[in-house]
Amino acid sequence: MLKSPFFIPSKFVTVQATMANKPQQITPANKRVVVCGGGVIGVCTAYFLSKKGAAVTLIEQSSIAAAASGKAGGFLALDWCDGGPVSSLARASFNLHRSLAEELNGGESYGYRPLNTLSLSVTESKNPPRGGRKSTVPGWIDGPVKSPRTIGTTETTAQVHPQLFTRKLVEKAVADYGVEVVIGKVKSVETGDGKITALVEGGGVIGGDAVVLAFGPWTSKFALLSSIIRVHGLKAHSVVLEPREIDAISAHALFLSYHPAHGGPPMDPEIYPRPTGEVYVCGMSMEEEVPDDPEQIEPNPDSIRVLKRVAGTVSSHLGDESRVKAEQACFLPCTDDSIPVIGEIPGMKGCYVATGHSCWGILNGPATGAAMAELVMEGYSTIVDLGPFSPARFVGRS
Ligand SMILES: Cc1cc2nc3c(=O)[nH]c(=O)nc-3n(C[C@H](O)[C@H](O)[C@H](O)COP(=O)(O)OP(=O)(O)OC[C@H]3O[C@@H](n4cnc5c(N)ncnc54)[C@H](O)[C@@H]3O)c2cc1C
Repeated sequence: MLKSPFFIPSKFVTVQATMANKPQQITPANKRVVVCGGGVIGVCTAYFLSKKGAAVTLIEQSSIAAAASGKAGGFLALDWCDGGPVSSLARASFNLHRSLAEELNGGESYGYRPLNTLSLSVTESKNPPRGGRKSTVPGWIDGPVKSPRTIGTTETTAQVHPQLFTRKLVEKAVADYGVEVVIGKVKSVETGDGKITALVEGGGVIGGDAVVLAFGPWTSKFALLSSIIRVHGLKAHSVVLEPREIDAISAHALFLSYHPAHGGPPMDPEIYPRPTGEVYVCGMSMEEEVPDDPEQIEPNPDSIRVLKRVAGTVSSHLGDESRVKAEQACFLPCTDDSIPVIGEIPGMKGCYVATGHSCWGILNGPATGAAMAELVMEGYSTIVDLGPFSPARFVGRS
């Protein structure tokens, strides 16, 4: 557990963006950038901006990785977005995750590892037969599974523990590159004369040369953006289990086509064993209003029950004998065209947005942050072509 005070969700008291304690490599000539939103997108952006020499203040209303970025699966894939507009972002980001893991002591502290990935069909029954498994699936998968197929290898799929990853990155950004973290709700942002000002609840004012808004599913609740960009939240559930015999569980991510005993359409839950001694199970999405504060997000008890049943059906190791570490829900940030929004807002110089990553925000965080850092500091991105992600595509639409 990290001890830094900024992980404690205390409300904003005083904010003075002082650069006095910055390490020496940061000079007064550098840009001052305010990054709003402490999810994986805001944190990756703050990290890469500060690495480039920007003096960065990161503002988060709750705690770092309090929302989806702390409750996601953390599954990463090199080529699963190929053929679509997110392909180059995903490929660049998959590789950046690998190099970040090298930079951050092998990524061990946040559960980075390449892993194999299987798809399976599962038909639920009241008393699932155990054993008689296909020799092609690992021994711990002892439930009624069919049609196993390898859909990812250690070359093409990997994972992180998303909360530990996001917090590790911010810890490094603070310690090595002088990022300042402020806990407080951003009420409004003003732009003009080449400067920006962020107003924080409680009266704090933070000024800078540029601002990056990374509010995830809260984007459309922010007045400045609500008439320009529509990002809606899709609620999804997860449980985190601690099996008694974690050593029996191999490094295989599972993508299921799950046929419930009572009939109905198949569901598509996912199961990710983690090297941190836990197994993460997610699925069960639904439309619901995003509450103002991530701390107010409550899981739906029926959805949690289903996910536990899925886990116990797939493996006896994940049944009643495993300890339930977390039952939780969070919101995917989704755009109407399913493409993230990354770039400067037309007509608002120095005001940038980075959001809408839907189910791939943990994967695409690093390349989004690195590209955004280039855009803010140099005016263009070499890491990925940000053209397809431009907020300009929303301007003029009703
Ligand atoms: C169940 C589930 C499983 C997932 N699994 C994966 C996976 O395996 N792989 C993958 O790549 N992606 C996965 N995702 C998607 C991923 O979690 C998201 O795309 C990503 O976390 C979005 O990050 P974000 O920073 O945009 O938003 P968030 O994590 O939602 O962060 C936004 C932050 O902004 C803050 N904020 C909002 N308004 C304000 C304000 N006014 N002032 C200050 N702060 C504010 C919020 O408190 C929040 O902390 C999953 C998502 C879900 C729901």
